[in-house]
Amino acid sequence: MQFSFAGPPLASPWFHDMQQGLTEAMMRAGHEAVSDPDAAQLVFHHVDPSYPRPFRRKSQAVFVVGLVNGPPLGLSPVAEIYPLLLRSLSNLLIYGAESTPTGVTLVTPELGCYPVGYESSRASWFDHLYTYIAPLASSRLVITNHFDWNLPPELARGTPVTAALREASRVLARWHLFPTPYPLHAMLSPQDYRHLRRVFGIGGISYGNLSARHDATRFWMSASGVDKGTLGTVSRDILLVTDYDATMGAMRLSVSPGSKPLRVSVDAVEHWGIYRSHPAIGAMIHIHAWVEGVATTAINYPCGTVEMGDAMADLLRQDPHPERTIIGLRNHGITATGPNFADILARLEGRVQTQVPMQ
Ligand SMILES: [Zn+2]
Repeated sequence: MQFSFAGPPLASPWFHDMQQGLTEAMMRAGHEAVSDPDAAQLVFHHVDPSYPRPFRRKSQAVFVVGLVNGPPLGLSPVAEIYPLLLRSLSNLLIYGAESTPTGVTLVTPELGCYPVGYESSRASWFDHLYTYIAPLASSRLVITNHFDWNLPPELARGTPVTAALREASRVLARWHLFPTPYPLHAMLSPQDYRHLRRVFGIGGISYGNLSARHDATRFWMSASGVDKGTLGTVSRDILLVTDYDATMGAMRLSVSPGSKPLRVSVDAVEHWGIYRSHPAIGAMIHIHAWVEGVATTAINYPCGTVEMGDAMADLLRQDPHPERTIIGLRNHGITATGPNFADILARLEGRVQTQVPMQ
């Protein structure tokens, strides 16, 4: 893939060093450096910690890695850096403390936080750092929604399946499994908030999603950026996913004429693949929480990518009971499958840890 650098001019020797080292590591991994950020699929964006601005993506399928050189971090690095990730709308943020060349700290949108200490060899350190960037540099994001305004009225009124989805979302909310730790509309300027909604299709971070099979090929799924504890309106926050169009790189949704649908959860492409390959799966719940002792994906691919879906599908294939299991997504959360929500909730009850262990 093609990558580039953007943002304010190089402000410190740290930026200069990072740009050089990352460029070399990216090229060793087979990626191509381009000078125009608008032509790149991955952009390293210099972010000023005192005035964090987003890189204006021209396309939704661009990943942004924020680079910040700021004051030394205190005892809670996530709380200090995560707001910079949000304000700069980055998919990954690399933070290096001023004048303390002991390494960098990385944060991800799923609240992953990793210190990466320097190694004696400069090239091997940047290659190590690249392993955190590789999932972004090698995945395809599917977050475009294509709406077909043809949802039949009998489905728009709701079905037993949409009622079960609504009920399950309320149970999970009562268990406090849909945290909304950052009030984005309060943290971002009105322009950045609109940009965030357009680029990521989210209006707030309320982690997790639910979906349930409608028939052999179609399924209902929660919308992104809504409070999952108050889901309930078909064709607005409960959406019928009919297909994944690989040519358009878009999820297809059937919605009611005249309705105001929100965008479907970014994980729709992953659920689409799973429902197609596992006819016995009737429902899925994804939460940013953990269950001890589950099979876990090896790489932390971003949500909403074809590769995350493939990694999940691989683990399900190896599972003796894919239709009734729990898969761990490294440093991120779990996805549970089952014949229906009641079955999944019964297996989750009392076993869920709200904190995801970070490796
Ligand atoms: Zn997630």
